[in-house]
Amino acid sequence: MSVEDETETVCRVCGYDDEVFWEGGWPTAAICPCCGNESDVGDAGVMGLRNYRGYWVGHGAPWHDSREERKQKRQGWNLLEQMANIPPQWR
Ligand SMILES: [Zn+2]
Repeated sequence: MSVEDETETVCRVCGYDDEVFWEGGWPTAAICPCCGNESDVGDAGVMGLRNYRGYWVGHGAPWHDSREERKQKRQGWNLLEQMANIPPQWR
């Protein structure tokens, strides 16, 4: 699998897995409904991700998207379980 074919559906910040955040090595500018991070080139560095994650968790890890249809996902949601999805290189 080459870098160009790589599609990332896991948020590098919070581990949310339901959107395409990176495609072919480029950020899609998708906004994570969970932590609110927008995938952009700033996410290419792990330090920036850690800063954002620390800030978000420090504020109680609020859901960015509060729409009704996300309610099911928010119920019974476990932050630590979700964060286990984060690839090791972005932790
Ligand atoms: Zn996220």
